[in-house]
Amino acid sequence: MEHFEKFDFQDYLDKVSDKDIINSINRDNLDEFDFLNLLSPKAQNHLEMMAKISQKNYIRHFGRTIGLYIPIYISNYCSSDCAYCGFSKKNKIVRKHLTKDEIEKEAKEIAKTGIKHILLLTGESKKMANLEYLLDAVEILKRYFSSVSIEIYPMETNEYRVLKKAGVDALTVYQEVYDRKIYKEVHTSGEKSNFLYRLNTPERGAKAGFRAISIGSLFGLGEIRSEAFFSGLHAKYLMDKYLECEISLSLPRINHAEGDFRPKYSLDDKTFLQIMLAYRIYMPMIGINISTRERADFRDNLIGLGVTKLSAGSKTDVGGYEGKDVSTAQFDISDDRSVKEIVKAIKHRGYQPVFKDWMVEIGAGEERGSEE
Ligand code: SF4
Repeated sequence: MEHFEKFDFQDYLDKVSDKDIINSINRDNLDEFDFLNLLSPKAQNHLEMMAKISQKNYIRHFGRTIGLYIPIYISNYCSSDCAYCGFSKKNKIVRKHLTKDEIEKEAKEIAKTGIKHILLLTGESKKMANLEYLLDAVEILKRYFSSVSIEIYPMETNEYRVLKKAGVDALTVYQEVYDRKIYKEVHTSGEKSNFLYRLNTPERGAKAGFRAISIGSLFGLGEIRSEAFFSGLHAKYLMDKYLECEISLSLPRINHAEGDFRPKYSLDDKTFLQIMLAYRIYMPMIGINISTRERADFRDNLIGLGVTKLSAGSKTDVGGYEGKDVSTAQFDISDDRSVKEIVKAIKHRGYQPVFKDWMVEIGAGEERGSEE
């Protein structure tokens, strides 16, 4: 990625021709410049062709399936200050830290949806969400879910190994923004202000042996096309180096949150679709997750075009599933449909919703399976 740090994206993208784009779409093994061609503004004239290739790639590698996952927030204390996040330590919000009993109550409530893949999230406070607390939470969640992923503060490889042994199988860690200057501007204090430590986190997770790693940019912080490019390069690097690990990209856009951050850049729906198609063509086997930050109609329209996983029935506040307003949400969601409604929408498009495609028997090896 380093050799693109001083690259003049604008100059390159301005010179991309229709012929370059068509050649890149039809190539088998795309290089970095083909990927960039697909991200160029001019490639928006070729979205139909990109969608056809993307759809073909998707069906070849994933069939007509869409995985479902659901997040659980167990603590919103944070020692970092990220300008765009409702949990930032500077925001005067209602903080909540679930006890073991409360985690179990939430888990029981979520399990009623039938979803078996859960994403465990905390604010980035090592004091409030230390390893012991996380291990307790994982132990509880394993009683109800076949796959537990984590989205917490970056850790060392040996700490990830401890969590893996306890039953965590996947890690989500977003770089948020690959532009170092902007990274510094929006992460002013706390551990998250360390750009390189965060950048190397997915690799520490892969070394610890996690089955799956999700990364991505938070769109709106940096210039859209270069951020999409760097996220893609990062994913490709991980895919090529850690062959046994499933690598996924997410494309979160900034939604309203406490603190009222105004993003400098805006990602419109058409460019969002273009980026997703470019990811799928450049990396046919990449996982692509789309969260409830996106509107229901927009998410439905992406089915079959490259998205592999959708979150469903999500709450972004701690203790949110019990229906009591006990804390402030991390950000507003845009698709507030129930799991049942999302399942119906997936089936309506001719795809099969997958509630479970992975299971870890602690101490008894790992197995794969599939059921609705
Ligand atoms: S994005 Fe993470 S580290 Fe930053 S304020 Fe929010 S919870 Fe804390």
